[in-house]
Amino acid sequence: MTHAVGRVAGKVAFITGAARGQGREHAVRLAEEGADIIAVDLCSDVEGVVYPGATDDDLDETAALVEKLDRRIVTAKADVRDLAGLRDALQRGIDQLGRPDVVIANAGISGSPAPSALLEETAWQTMLDINLTGVWHTTKVAIPHMSDGRGGSIILVSSMLGLRGGAYMVHYASAKHGVVGLMHSLANELAPQLIRVNSIHPGNIRTPMIDNEQFHRTLRPDLPNPTMDDTAAVIGHFHLLPVPVIEARAVSNAVLFLASDESQYITGAALPIDAGAVARF
Ligand code: NAD
Repeated sequence: MTHAVGRVAGKVAFITGAARGQGREHAVRLAEEGADIIAVDLCSDVEGVVYPGATDDDLDETAALVEKLDRRIVTAKADVRDLAGLRDALQRGIDQLGRPDVVIANAGISGSPAPSALLEETAWQTMLDINLTGVWHTTKVAIPHMSDGRGGSIILVSSMLGLRGGAYMVHYASAKHGVVGLMHSLANELAPQLIRVNSIHPGNIRTPMIDNEQFHRTLRPDLPNPTMDDTAAVIGHFHLLPVPVIEARAVSNAVLFLASDESQYITGAALPIDAGAVARF
């Protein structure tokens, strides 16, 4: 273990949904800049979600990538819907690494598109349970550990659909808008303790959430074996910049900034990382 250097050297980051995709990239990016990581993930499929969930191997791979950077990581399997399980997972991390300076409430699912009137109640409820209540749970278990006067940075992962509506995605957009209300309220509540709270709003990000067979088949029913490139031609028009899909590392660079002291006077901000998607509508 080398002495930590970097933009978040010596900080501990608690990240949910860290087995793959953006959560893994945030873990790696923050570790590159000197942070130790508490990484939590469900590591299983979610009932009603049509694309595969992360696996134990995925979470192990995140751990290996962080350790290769000579930083420490504690991993735990937990469901953000399960408050007690999430609290235990964080506590195990704190026992080994110390209290979190940074919280990234990133775990989330995408739902199958459906006209609002035809959306199943279970699909609505699962979405709200994970993408909104799960984010609140993540803050609820972390805040008591951060209220010692040293402050911290809480980053809530919303979406471009947290700042604008999305036809056939009422469940996802409603949950992600809810995250903005949570962010604004927590920013007000926690400022006296020097805890900053911001939300990020990714556009189309290349992760298994959108780079999966079911998503491609839904958006390109005209093709026998559609790929991300084919789907990008449809979803790319959300973005203003001529970049249909953004790499996860671009989101992690924004997360790194919000996690670091470089953003020490930024709180209550909703930051799009969406190639201009929100500006378009
Ligand atoms: P992803 O599916 O690759 O990663 C999501 C991770 O969250 C997975 O590892 C999954 O196992 C975990 N997870 C899901 N439900 C969980 C639960 N109940 N408890 C604990 N962990 C759980 O997708 P991603 O793109 O990396 O998504 C990360 C976040 O970014 C999500 O909140 C998502 O809504 C948001 N987002 C994604 C995009 C995109 O285009 N990919 C765009 C905007 C916002």
